[in-house]
Amino acid sequence: MDDSIVYRNIKFLKGVGEKRALILQRELEVSSYKDLLYYFPYRYVDRSVFVKAREIRSDDIHIQIKGKVIDKQTVTNGKTKRLIVGFGDETGRIELVFFKGLKWIYDRLDVGRQYVVFGKPSKFNNEFNFIHPEIEPIETYFNSANDSKFLPIYSTTEKMKNSFLNTKALAKITLNLINECHGNIAETLPEYIVKHYNLISLQQSLENIHYPQSPELLSKAKLRLKFEELFFMQLEHQMTKSHRKEKSQGFVFSKVGDVFNSFYSRNLKFSLTEAQKRVIKEIRNDMRSSHQMNRLLQGDVGSGKTLVALMCMLIALDNGFQAALLAPTEILAQQHYNSITNFLSGLNVNVALLMSGVKSKARKNILSNLEEGCIDIIVGTHAILEDSVKFHNLGLAVIDEQHRFGVEQRSKMWNKNTTLPPHILVMTATPIPRTLAMTVYGDLDYSVIDELPPGRKPINTIHLFDSSILRVYDFMRQQINVGRQIYIVYPLINENEKLDLKDLMDGYTSITQQFPLPQYQVSIVHGQMKAEDKEYEMNRFKRGVTNIMVATTVIEVGVDVPNATVMIIQNAERFGLSQLHQLRGRVGRGANQSYCILMTKDNLSKESAKRIDIMCSTNDGFVLAQEDLALRGPGSIQGTQQSGVLDLKIADIVKDEPLVRTARDLADYIVKIDPALSLPDNALLKQYFLKHKPLQDFSKIS
Ligand code: ADP
Ligand code: MG
Repeated sequence: MDDSIVYRNIKFLKGVGEKRALILQRELEVSSYKDLLYYFPYRYVDRSVFVKAREIRSDDIHIQIKGKVIDKQTVTNGKTKRLIVGFGDETGRIELVFFKGLKWIYDRLDVGRQYVVFGKPSKFNNEFNFIHPEIEPIETYFNSANDSKFLPIYSTTEKMKNSFLNTKALAKITLNLINECHGNIAETLPEYIVKHYNLISLQQSLENIHYPQSPELLSKAKLRLKFEELFFMQLEHQMTKSHRKEKSQGFVFSKVGDVFNSFYSRNLKFSLTEAQKRVIKEIRNDMRSSHQMNRLLQGDVGSGKTLVALMCMLIALDNGFQAALLAPTEILAQQHYNSITNFLSGLNVNVALLMSGVKSKARKNILSNLEEGCIDIIVGTHAILEDSVKFHNLGLAVIDEQHRFGVEQRSKMWNKNTTLPPHILVMTATPIPRTLAMTVYGDLDYSVIDELPPGRKPINTIHLFDSSILRVYDFMRQQINVGRQIYIVYPLINENEKLDLKDLMDGYTSITQQFPLPQYQVSIVHGQMKAEDKEYEMNRFKRGVTNIMVATTVIEVGVDVPNATVMIIQNAERFGLSQLHQLRGRVGRGANQSYCILMTKDNLSKESAKRIDIMCSTNDGFVLAQEDLALRGPGSIQGTQQSGVLDLKIADIVKDEPLVRTARDLADYIVKIDPALSLPDNALLKQYFLKHKPLQDFSKIS
């Protein structure tokens, strides 16, 4: 079959031409027939259903009415002129209002003649009217109808409407498109897949998604197109993964030796959770296979990911390699460094900390020791990624809070060795729902710690309005009196850093007034402070010198001060669920009951109120992640931006969850038995990749 027609420039399509092609390109990024075939309607109007004038209820959807023009008149009101057409059926009268093309329309509407009006009603003075509806004589309406009972409704932009490219006009164009492409759309899925999943053909799907012949065919078309979209996405992930595994040899860590064992038997003061043990095993299996590991480690806040990472680094050391731990902020890097040196005290392991603030002499020292192999574990920020940082032999790189690093940065770690790339373990700050992880990090292997260490007391989360601030101050005094410490966090909204900082400073001022020296000590930390000042303040808080830490979200990640039992979040309505959860995870780390107080303004939007309610009702990060996904869509979840889930045209990661899994399983199966897609059965799949994906990504396909 010759499907070259679908790659034709859209301007050649009947009803388009140069001028409209330009608009389509600019407004919808539609430049070929194919682009328009994949520009799907978001709704359909059943053309056999006509609403009666009396029965118009809603002003937010397109409807059609059959009736007569009763009268027409042009009204001038100051400078504006409009045409008001009285229109009605046997049940009542409505008005059609036009602001543009008055004469043209006036001349074409005959009083007493029957028309079909199509559009979105709007409410004015409690009456419905139509602003610039489509209107067509009833004869031509029924003649022009193709064999579909449904009229597609497309979203269009204001600019398109101004150029008379409204949804109706677009529908005419897509009808031409479908007619021209009929019989020329090549199948993309192998027959065995189409059969097995009982799918309809691509040709039929694309025709029916625009002009459904029946509701049944419409849902079959949707299913097929969603499946295809998800399947190719998953197939791409699986291909990348399998290709990389095949190609990328890894260091073989064959043994667990002295460092690991003495840490485990002497230094570790508690027992690992079952989940931690399982995950360490999974990672160890990767690291002793001869392939390079690329694994994602998920776990709720406080589930002990860092410890798992540390133990895996020790395995690297036992096999004669170095390890690195990369953190997104200096505070976090510093803290990882402290807790790792603590954990390892008494063991003969050399740990160093590298951040951009490190002075040049010390830095020089670190760099040369690292290159000579005298440093076993390096902890640090982006500073580690710099080219001047060279390793003797980097065996394992752990990237904490993966979403804060770009793909390029991850690949920088890959290139730190001249021999083989190190094993890579990336960790997320808060859980991501499973289906999303499959998609966003689909090319990584996946481990999850789904269990918290025993004895954690659930954090008590409370929502209070700003007007209750005095009650909050009282509560803070109580807690400070019994020796606890408190965080107060202000949101950072990147749009206006100055204003954000002002909020924070105002907050700090009122806190210092309420909690004055010498009785109370208050610290402040924000992103614009120098690293050493931040560290100084953090340390004072850590050591218990200060009672209250006023901060922006810089403290959000990983900070660990067990004696802090109260987290107060100002303007909590401005945070997403996962960020709130991450902040809340800063407390509840010690033996005492902890509290999280969500402060908000009085009148919350429905969505904010829902989020706050959910926060108060659960401490489970996996539940929250799922809710966040359902509430705000994948775009709100950290790390999704580069993944392509946001570009999905028809499938929905949330609503189509079962389909995501099916697509994933199928892709997995195919790549396992036919990694180069060389079986005749998979010829179409291979063709798809050759056509759509750059070759170097899949150099095995040739
Ligand atoms: P995460 O990075 O997953 O948020 P951490 O690794 O910071 O969690 O662990 C949180 C705290 O729990 C740390 O103080 C850590 O030492 C402690 N911890 C980790 N694993 C266990 C365990 N199995 N039992 C008790 N405490 C643990
Ligand atoms: Mg952590």
